Amino acid sequence: MVGGFPSTVESRAFRGSKAATTAGFESRMEDVKPSKSDLNVLILDYLTAEGYPTAAERFSKEANLNPAKQQDSVLFRNRIQHDIHLGSIQNAIEAINELNPQILDSDTSLHFALLRLQLIELIRESSLTPGGNIGPALTFATTQLAPKAPSDPAFLEDLERTMALLIFPPDQLEPQLAELLHPDLRKKVADRVNEAILASQGQRRNAAIRNLVKLRSWAEGASKDAKITLPDQLDLGLNGDVPGADRARRSGGATAGVGSYTCVKDPRTMLRSPRIAPFVSSSNVATLRARALQQLPSARGRAIQYASQASRGPHTLRRRPQVVGALRNPNWRHISHTPIRLSPGKQVLKTRSRALNFVYRAAAWLGISVTVASAGIIGFFLYDASTYREDLSQKDIQISDLALNPKLGGPKNLPIAEVLMDDEDDADMELQQSKPRLVILGGGWGSVALIKELNVEDYHVTLVSPTNYFLFTPMLPSATVGTLELRSLAEPIRRIVSNIKGHFIKARAEGVEFSEKLVEVSQVGTDGKRTHFYLPYDKLVIGVGSTTNPYGVKGLDNCNFLKDLDDARKIKHKILNNLEAASLPTTSEEERKRLLSFVVCGGGPTGVEFAAELFDLLNEDLTQYFPRLIRNEVSVHLIQSRGHILNTYDEAVSKYAEDRFSRDQVQVLTNSRVKEVQSDKILFTQKDEHGETITKELPMGFCLWSTGVSQTDFSKNVAEKLGDTQTNRHALETDSHLRLVGAPLGDVYAIGDCSTVQNNVADNLVSFLNNLAYEKGRDPKTMHIEFSEWIQVGRRIRRQFPQASEHLKRLDKLFEAYDKDQSGTLDFGEMRELLMQIDKTLTSLPATAQRAHQQGQYLAHKFNKLARAAPGLRMNEVLDGDLDDAVYKSFQYHHLGSLAYLGNSAVFDLGGGWNVLGGLWAVYAWRSVYFAQSVSIRTRLLLAMDWAKRALFGRDMMTF
Ligand SMILES: Cc1cc2nc3c(=O)[nH]c(=O)nc-3n(C[C@H](O)[C@H](O)[C@H](O)COP(=O)(O)OP(=O)(O)OC[C@H]3O[C@@H](n4cnc5c(N)ncnc54)[C@H](O)[C@@H]3O)c2cc1C
Repeated sequence: MVGGFPSTVESRAFRGSKAATTAGFESRMEDVKPSKSDLNVLILDYLTAEGYPTAAERFSKEANLNPAKQQDSVLFRNRIQHDIHLGSIQNAIEAINELNPQILDSDTSLHFALLRLQLIELIRESSLTPGGNIGPALTFATTQLAPKAPSDPAFLEDLERTMALLIFPPDQLEPQLAELLHPDLRKKVADRVNEAILASQGQRRNAAIRNLVKLRSWAEGASKDAKITLPDQLDLGLNGDVPGADRARRSGGATAGVGSYTCVKDPRTMLRSPRIAPFVSSSNVATLRARALQQLPSARGRAIQYASQASRGPHTLRRRPQVVGALRNPNWRHISHTPIRLSPGKQVLKTRSRALNFVYRAAAWLGISVTVASAGIIGFFLYDASTYREDLSQKDIQISDLALNPKLGGPKNLPIAEVLMDDEDDADMELQQSKPRLVILGGGWGSVALIKELNVEDYHVTLVSPTNYFLFTPMLPSATVGTLELRSLAEPIRRIVSNIKGHFIKARAEGVEFSEKLVEVSQVGTDGKRTHFYLPYDKLVIGVGSTTNPYGVKGLDNCNFLKDLDDARKIKHKILNNLEAASLPTTSEEERKRLLSFVVCGGGPTGVEFAAELFDLLNEDLTQYFPRLIRNEVSVHLIQSRGHILNTYDEAVSKYAEDRFSRDQVQVLTNSRVKEVQSDKILFTQKDEHGETITKELPMGFCLWSTGVSQTDFSKNVAEKLGDTQTNRHALETDSHLRLVGAPLGDVYAIGDCSTVQNNVADNLVSFLNNLAYEKGRDPKTMHIEFSEWIQVGRRIRRQFPQASEHLKRLDKLFEAYDKDQSGTLDFGEMRELLMQIDKTLTSLPATAQRAHQQGQYLAHKFNKLARAAPGLRMNEVLDGDLDDAVYKSFQYHHLGSLAYLGNSAVFDLGGGWNVLGGLWAVYAWRSVYFAQSVSIRTRLLLAMDWAKRALFGRDMMTF
């Protein structure tokens, strides 16, 4: 009966064919009015199939139908359903297995769905109490679900998605996750279980009315496609049975009762039908309602979508490492059972559209940014206001008479500045007076590195320099063409010195009286006369740098140099003045070409970088603001005496630089020696293809002389005073402890460009052998050194000349190689040959900021150590001797690589054949290196602003 009823309705309803009219349809419906008993059977079938035994029993009595046969089974099913709806999944599983163990064994998907629901219940439980323990959920996932997950990718995905519930607070779940906690899921699983039980009992899986609902929906769709309008309602002729049905129909509501065909749009309406409602106990209503909710679309797609969103979204930040780790573990074997606290909260989903979320977030960020910026501005103004002083900073101070009227003395009977004017400025300064006097000559790379690393409390420091700023030389070429401002490269020396409570004297060192420990300094007074005085010292550091090497070339007064800020300013003026003069209508073509011929003598890093900066200016800014003719007539030439430019760099770097310049039309003249510089031209020699030297002329409007370094007058004075002990013509010689050779041991040091470290390993042979012979009581000349003694000598050489360590790695091999007579010992001659060979391989240290900086730091560390060791040494009456060697190691230079700017490209020679050559990205890297090395935050800020200004407004092309 139940089976036949739907088919009747189905076949008739189908006949609402295309040709049918609404009227025809209605007349046909008249013919197929279903009987009341058919509908009662339908209702009873629904109550029975869906598991409402009590309702089914009462309804069958009322409708005079045979009661459902399988009462027990219905009751059982009902119990299982009830358990699932209540979240007692374990009970449900046990009941299913009791009913028929085959059900879950054969349907692994259903079994997995039940276990997963059980996991969700455990997660729900843990999140209900503040700080709930998620350990049971993790254990359950590990033991029950994880082993099953790998058998089906869908299981794995479901499990991962479920585990994601542990990661986020329940009140901030994405919709795709929130639906897992919705009661709907229980309903879905309960329905599946119900169907599976019915199938296992050989019964239809669904109540017949469900199929009818689907059929109706299909028919509606089909008729809509065929543009056939069906009536909203069809009277089934049962209204007479239903009190109030007319009223409901009149109101057109969908709940008009089962007498109206259209009311069966959804089975749940049946529950509210007056015909069924009395049979449904009130306790069942909530459950029935939940069950009657419409089916939702598959969540799988949305879960996948969720996964991708979640991994990008802000929630990711709240991921719990324990859970994430567990999720990532494919075997789910190592999940920690440490309780993880979930933040309490209700599981109400807060859904906002993406657009709204974006607007909220943007508004929040805007608010934060505005607040921070406002706080910054207010803070800055407050700070700025605090830097002004209303009260008079002038106050009474005590000052030593000696500071204002120094006594005369020394070989030249000059004033000796024993007390400085600011020695008693404050308590800290006063304290410094009793400390050993450290005088530093020069405020360059070496001296500043020394000051920055020196302990404040150890020395009374005075720095003497004719310039009152530290100059960041590596970027100086950029200042010659207005890429950078001059100020951005300089830092006031007084500021640097004040950090160690030191003193600054703007003067020039003239000479040193080593025996009386006095430095003679001079300064030009307001009357234009030079005033000389002495500065006493306990330790003196010479870091006066170098001057440009003229190489005896005539006419260098026609050249510009690039050593300090003043040079950079002069170069910029000269270049811009030449460009302006060349733009005048009165300038002849020949003169214009001469004015626009820029020559750089010297292919080292400074010359190359200047040529590159000049090219940038001509190529980028000149074209914009000067007549185009000027750009076409500009020429840049680089004269280099060696075969390649950048010849101290790796060959690949030199080649790259030459290629770059050839592309940029910078003429590189190699193997060319400048003979003379005249006011309008340069004479230089080149060798022709027959090896003959020929002299060439190059008209020039500007010439930069940048050809290596030479000693300053002061350094020459000092070397002269020390006589034969100083043999190097280019720099002051020091030992490996950076002590000036010839000066009293431990009094005077020299660092940076003005100095060179002796590498004379062989010359020291005698002292080595003497020492050894003295220790062994033998004659050095006739002494034979055994291998064990050679090991000792090797160690001493390494200690004294760290630079030679590289060549003394395999002492055994060296011994073997130089033991020519195979005697098993080295005699004096063999030893000398060995050490001279090492000598040859050692090159002198480069005149770079890098070396000066390392030497400054080295001295600072040694001085700090000496100051700490001083009390102990005094106590033990060790006041003379090689204290430096006793407390500290020798200086060892570590080459960290060389950089050079090549005009919108840069090169990095990292040593050992490692190079980096590149375009703009390398320029940014080059800038970053120097930005980081810059001496203060102030200069960094200025550098950044200059680079930004160049990008926005071009180079500064003004001359004042
Ligand atoms: C344009 C240019 C670019 C360079 N680029 C690089 C680079 O990219 N990388 C690199 O490693 N090196 C570079 N160098 C080299 C580097 O600047 C020097 O090696 C470094 O400055 C040496 O440091 P210093 O302390 O010995 O002397 P300097 O830094 O030259 O300082 C000497 C100080 O002594 C002062 N002084 C001079 N005479 C006296 C005196 N009689 N009495 C008292 N004080 C005196 C001077 O005023 C100055 O303050 C560049 C040099 C120049 C000129």
